[in-house]
Amino acid sequence: MSDRTPITVAYGDGIGPEIMDATLRIIQAAGAKIDIEVIEVGEKVYLSGNVTGIAPSSWDSLRKTKVFLKAPITTPQGSGYKSLNVATRKMFGLYANVRPCVSYHPFITTKHPVMDLVIVRENEEDLYSGIEYRQTRQVTQALKLISTTGTEKIVRYAFEFAVKNKRKKVTCFVKDNIMKITDGLFHKIFNEIGEEYPEIEKEVWIVDIGAAKLATAPEQFDVLVMENLYGDILSDVTAQMTGSVGLAGSANIGDEFAMFEAIHGSAPRRAGQNSANPSGLLLGAVMMLVHIGQPEIASKVHNAWLKTLEEGVHTYDIRSTLNDSITVGTREFADEVIKRLGQKPSLFKIAEYSSEGHHKVEKSKLKSQANIAKDLVGVDVFVDWNSGSPDDLGNIMSKIQAEGLELSSISSRGVKVFPEGSPNINQVDHWRCRYENPEKGKTITHSAIIELLNKIREHGFDFIKTENLYNFDGVSGFSL
Ligand code: NAD
Repeated sequence: MSDRTPITVAYGDGIGPEIMDATLRIIQAAGAKIDIEVIEVGEKVYLSGNVTGIAPSSWDSLRKTKVFLKAPITTPQGSGYKSLNVATRKMFGLYANVRPCVSYHPFITTKHPVMDLVIVRENEEDLYSGIEYRQTRQVTQALKLISTTGTEKIVRYAFEFAVKNKRKKVTCFVKDNIMKITDGLFHKIFNEIGEEYPEIEKEVWIVDIGAAKLATAPEQFDVLVMENLYGDILSDVTAQMTGSVGLAGSANIGDEFAMFEAIHGSAPRRAGQNSANPSGLLLGAVMMLVHIGQPEIASKVHNAWLKTLEEGVHTYDIRSTLNDSITVGTREFADEVIKRLGQKPSLFKIAEYSSEGHHKVEKSKLKSQANIAKDLVGVDVFVDWNSGSPDDLGNIMSKIQAEGLELSSISSRGVKVFPEGSPNINQVDHWRCRYENPEKGKTITHSAIIELLNKIREHGFDFIKTENLYNFDGVSGFSL
């Protein structure tokens, strides 16, 4: 059997072909055992009428190799085009986005000379499911979904990544002081899984103060794990803090498939000038080499690259505080890295990858959820209404009842308005009417909800959505 690993490569748009060429030249010179299949993705494919920017036949190559090294692409302006990254993420279940952000002080100017952290971002859930609605003339809604299985996978990945890469601490960012159920679940699972890793230090920050700390004292962080939205924002912030967006690579990991890339875009105005920095894509390729079981080659490439930076050889985008640095083009930078293959940095930490560097998350180890008792105890009926005061609405809704269901409260955008609601609300046309069994916690039936909705409709209301209220093992599964 061949000891070479087939990989799929896309040269992308803008500066993509130049930085991909430089990256492949370096890793092949280092002895990477890879067989390359090239596919076309990006602008041309979009403009030929393919809304996701990838031809159906190219999926076959990806399904076969299961490893994708992708240069940045240009998404054409205008609506109707779907993100290729989102399509790939969904097609292959790429649940983890891994983004190391490192300072290269004093060789690259940064306000944060000590910084060596990795953001592990959940990639499939949260507000990114794209489920959005305009419910009334005034109010829109996006759905935030956080699952036990999705959270377990990403948190376990973060801890395993920490162990395998000899990292000391995993920090979790959440906003569970506000989103007690969704972010509360993420926090709870982080604590549960953290117990399996006694050797790793653990901490949890509320995301706002955590982000402030991250932006001012990044040296205090090591591995960070967070939901999709927080990770999306903060991984861009931390990448920029290192000194250039051209420096960071990223890995998107699934159970069977993985995609590696630079974090930056296709920089169209730089295209064809032999000036772009290939480092982001090169570091993405280094992660790929670890993933495909070639950690020695990964270390060799990474160390030669560090040595090149140390010796003051840079592309235009990196400003150095050193006097004797020289600026070279993309091709020449690759040549300089190739010249140093086999050398190690003198000042930077030497890269030493092991075959354990990337981890495949095994089956769930959390207690099964199947035996949890789930009881239907009420319903929230959301109505579009704009014909009076909260008390007017409350007085009508209180008269509408069904078997075991009576109005307990009305709120608008999360603020209680009836009975005895806040007098100072900025009124909109979106109301949540909560119906529960007057004997709190006693179960109700689905047919009672249907009966209630029929009566609400007969009173002339437009009910825009309902949300069932459940208790789980006697604990309410809804915000109060
Ligand atoms: P960009 O990342 O391409 O460029 C931002 C700035 O950083 C520009 O000034 C650019 O010159 C500079 N820059 C980026 N990479 C560099 C490198 N390797 N070396 C030196 N300088 C570099 O972001 P943008 O201008 O907002 O987007 C351009 C296109 O890229 C858009 O079509 C966007 O949709 C696409 N994009 C693609 C990806 C991807 O394929 N993963 C990611 C982000 C943006």
